[in-house]
Amino acid sequence: MAGLYLHIPFCKSKCVYCGFYSTVNQKDIDKYISTLSEELTLRESEVTESVKTAYFGGGTPSLLQPSQLHQILDNLHDRFKIAPDAEMTIEANPEQLTPEYCKALKALGFNRLSIGVQSFHDDILRFLGRRHTAQEALDAIKNAHDAGFDNISIDLIYGVNERSNKQWCNELEKAFSIPIRHFSAYALTVEENSLLYRRIHQHKTVEPDEDLAARQYDILQEAAVRSPFMQYEVSNYAVKGWESKHNSAYWQRVPYLGFGPAAHSFDGTHRYWNAPTLATYFAQIAEKKTFYGHETLSKTDHYNEYLLLRLRTRSGIDLREMAQLFGQKRTDTLLRHFQTKVNPRHYEYTPGRLHLTAEGLWFADGIAGDCFLEH
Ligand code: SF4
Repeated sequence: MAGLYLHIPFCKSKCVYCGFYSTVNQKDIDKYISTLSEELTLRESEVTESVKTAYFGGGTPSLLQPSQLHQILDNLHDRFKIAPDAEMTIEANPEQLTPEYCKALKALGFNRLSIGVQSFHDDILRFLGRRHTAQEALDAIKNAHDAGFDNISIDLIYGVNERSNKQWCNELEKAFSIPIRHFSAYALTVEENSLLYRRIHQHKTVEPDEDLAARQYDILQEAAVRSPFMQYEVSNYAVKGWESKHNSAYWQRVPYLGFGPAAHSFDGTHRYWNAPTLATYFAQIAEKKTFYGHETLSKTDHYNEYLLLRLRTRSGIDLREMAQLFGQKRTDTLLRHFQTKVNPRHYEYTPGRLHLTAEGLWFADGIAGDCFLEH
């Protein structure tokens, strides 16, 4: 069991690029906490072994008071066997990370903090619809560090038209000078259900420039080489030994359970998903249903997912493992495809392992897609 994901679906306001499910209506927080507790109880028999990671994501988990988080954590410990050294992550927005709040999170048992910084420039933060300033982001990281968090990650967004390459370089220098061990950097994309999507279609703003995003990805690679951070997945960078255990397990396709609206679960053979909104989730749990929809993965689905997730990681595909899972013939076919169709600058093949280079990772989804099996 990889771990547990708990979705906290509340936000103060919607950021322009966001496609995650969350609501700005906070009146149901208490009802949500008790419904979540019912879901944890309903599903406690789904995990018998000890849990290695728990991840509070959102939404904005840091909107919850320490007493509310305490309630959820108590339930979690009552229902599941959480390993004493489990990675316990909570996502937080900078404006909530006061010294007192950071100390409370530490006292509750969280040992990893993922902070939604996105940028160290106020203009960019305003464009993205974030509620914090650059200074608040820096203060938040300091407060977390002072409270004893040594495992801090931040999120950054690049490929924003309003930001020059020079500004992006400066932001990276800033990120490398603060006490973090991990960062995730995402190119700005236009999610269909986001405000950005609507604004583009109303001609109020323009699409993000793909060439700019590609150039800023290159700048990131050049800067990362001079930093203590190593890229271990398309969008994730860590000081060696500080990679996210929770996300790494997803990419290894280890089973996990997801709780709350719009959360997904995977048991190695099936994917399950919860009701997509708070209202439908309340109804789902009131009817004591442990999932809202599910699918059984076919052999082809397994193969395609395996390929996609592994090729997005820097360690890539262990060819011996692949042969065991999908057969030697399929493995040889994949190797032949790479040797004849894929740009040699985009991958490396060492006996027993096939992985994409930093340059190739930018094209990971396309390279994997070209190798997919048809249903
Ligand atoms: S990006 Fe995070 S804080 Fe912003 S709306 Fe989405 S979930 Fe909420």
